[in-house]
Amino acid sequence: MTTPNKIIVIGAGICGLSTAIWLRRAGHDVTLVDREGPGAGASFGNAGLLAQWAMVPVNTPDLLTTGLKYLVNPGSPLFMQWGYLPRLAPWLMRFVARANARDCRRAIEALIPLVTDSVDQHVALTKGTRAEQWIASSDFGYAYPSRKAFEDDAYAWGFKRGCGMVPDIIEGDAVRDVEPILGPATQCLAMLKGHGHITDPGAYMADLAKVLCDEGGAYRRAEVRDIKLSDGRITAVETDQGLITCDHAVLAAGIWSKALMRKLGIKVHLEAERGYHLHFKGPSQVPRNPLMISQGKFAVNPMATGLRCAGTVELGGIQKGPSRAPLDLIRKHAAAVFPDLTYDSIEEWMGFRPTTPDSLPLIGELGGTGVFAAFGHQHVGLTAGPKTGRIVAGLIDGQRPNLDMAPYDANRFQPSTR
Ligand SMILES: Cc1cc2nc3c(=O)[nH]c(=O)nc-3n(C[C@H](O)[C@H](O)[C@H](O)COP(=O)(O)OP(=O)(O)OC[C@H]3O[C@@H](n4cnc5c(N)ncnc54)[C@H](O)[C@@H]3O)c2cc1C
Repeated sequence: MTTPNKIIVIGAGICGLSTAIWLRRAGHDVTLVDREGPGAGASFGNAGLLAQWAMVPVNTPDLLTTGLKYLVNPGSPLFMQWGYLPRLAPWLMRFVARANARDCRRAIEALIPLVTDSVDQHVALTKGTRAEQWIASSDFGYAYPSRKAFEDDAYAWGFKRGCGMVPDIIEGDAVRDVEPILGPATQCLAMLKGHGHITDPGAYMADLAKVLCDEGGAYRRAEVRDIKLSDGRITAVETDQGLITCDHAVLAAGIWSKALMRKLGIKVHLEAERGYHLHFKGPSQVPRNPLMISQGKFAVNPMATGLRCAGTVELGGIQKGPSRAPLDLIRKHAAAVFPDLTYDSIEEWMGFRPTTPDSLPLIGELGGTGVFAAFGHQHVGLTAGPKTGRIVAGLIDGQRPNLDMAPYDANRFQPSTR
């Protein structure tokens, strides 16, 4: 870096926190702004998986058949707020149009470099800081009711194997030797060795904000209302606390980035995949490693403060409050796969995964504005946030990443660049 810049990072989720820390380490004058506390959005309540194996997006080639089957089955992990359908339709049509072999492979190829070194990226972000305590090494298990159910997942496993992630398959009663918490509903366990998880995502976000301040950055609680440009370049960020002048800004406000992009005159195709968690406090048992439960499609993480089960997808925008059905579904399947689990109480939560039609985030400068995008990481934002932050910090510093950035082009939804 030659000249330190004054940079505002908007949004203190994993993407904004990581970007702010890496920018500060490069010597910039960094202020991270969030209208609530750090980790107020999706980064708080996620499943805490550093999902290095999650390179296959939701819109796979079988999306239409599976999605339609799911929608007519009230016991499936896909939910729809039908009243929202007219507003969802433009995004949904684009999302479904990408559910073909060519586009899905393109998304996977672009997700692989963002997710597969996640544990190393989190370690690099936190080494020697107070935040490193929240990163745990673990294996990861996919729990299936049968060998056939595992084999039905062959499409996704093919890509994992291509990345060197070959599972150990455990069947029948041997499943309980590996994970005693699992009851007979799980007859096949596909284990991946050598990954990691976060033991308290909320506490991790809070500590990352403290790391930023420990290292000389600033954190301000303020709501960003507009981004001011002069001759097409950013000059300031307007907040409910007044104007903050800057040379650059990073837009890392998760799902809420869409509204701020509109202020810049840019329409971005971004929708919320609403997801839920049940957090069992005082559980009688926890799994030895995080798990993905294929019946119900939710993840399970033995966290510092209890057992978290998180997942499901509900399409319905960000205005309506939580629905009962996804929470009930997770509860029903958790009772089926963990038959002996008892607990003191349950906390419930809903959050918004920010998802684009091509399942890829926006990373990079918006035109020549000096405003950089760092959002849109769908189901893998916790996993890919630290790498995204490092890339964005490098771009602002004038570095060229050792990565083809075209798939993440922040301008790709604008008509002139289509
Ligand atoms: C149920 C569920 C489970 C998940 N599990 C995993 C998992 O195991 N692994 C994984 O990798 N990913 C997981 N995800 C996805 C992951 O949580 C998200 O992709 C990620 O947290 C997005 O981070 P972010 O920083 O982009 O946005 P957020 O974490 O949503 O942060 C955005 C921040 O911007 C702030 N903000 C918004 N508007 C403004 C404004 N105008 N002014 C100031 N501040 C503003 C908000 O207050 C918020 O703090 C899960 C998501 C859900 C819902």
